[in-house]
Amino acid sequence: MIIAVDGPTASGKGTISKALAAHFGLPHLDTGLLYRAVGRQVSLNGGDPDNPAEALAACDFPDNLMADDILRSEGSGSLASRVSIHPAVRKALFERQRAFAKQAGGAVLDGRDIGTVIAPEADVKLFVTASVQSRAVRRHAEMQRRGESSTLAEIEADLARRDARDMNRKDAPLKPAKDAILFDTTAFGPAEAVEAAIEAVSSKMR
Ligand code: C5P
Repeated sequence: MIIAVDGPTASGKGTISKALAAHFGLPHLDTGLLYRAVGRQVSLNGGDPDNPAEALAACDFPDNLMADDILRSEGSGSLASRVSIHPAVRKALFERQRAFAKQAGGAVLDGRDIGTVIAPEADVKLFVTASVQSRAVRRHAEMQRRGESSTLAEIEADLARRDARDMNRKDAPLKPAKDAILFDTTAFGPAEAVEAAIEAVSSKMR
């Protein structure tokens, strides 16, 4: 069974996909981490994330970069959003994601284009959203826990910028697949969102 979970930053898709993977006993890939690793590698190379050739060169990042906690920072998220615009970068990361989706027994992948590009044949597609204000509040709390200092207003502005970049790019823009279940977590806490997602996937499989 392939489960595709797409949606904007801080919508709750990461929490939901990890819980779905645990519940259904499937491996999970956070595809945003791949783009974050490319963004981080560009900066380690002293390159320009807006330059397609320099971003493509950074797709050759070492595997252990994926485990670096710095990828979770807002700075890495912003770099990821810039490198992910380039079609050559998306193409370079395609096979790795596709192979993960196609492994025997199935998988859960979360990202922006899983249900539309990476695994259009997925058995279940969830498109997780939440208002930009509630996503900013969640991200702010998460950043405070990590000791990063940004105001709520700065985070909200950054999320809105990243949403616009993700939704308006030509290649694989962030949008629900036609057959996706739309899932708004604005009014949900994490436990409620997880429970509802498990129910949505289970009823689709019945
Ligand atoms: O999900 P996360 O916030 O970690 O993703 C970081 C950035 O990587 C996103 O803002 C988006 O631009 C890009 N991304 C993407 N396609 C994916 C996953 C992430 O373009 N499948």
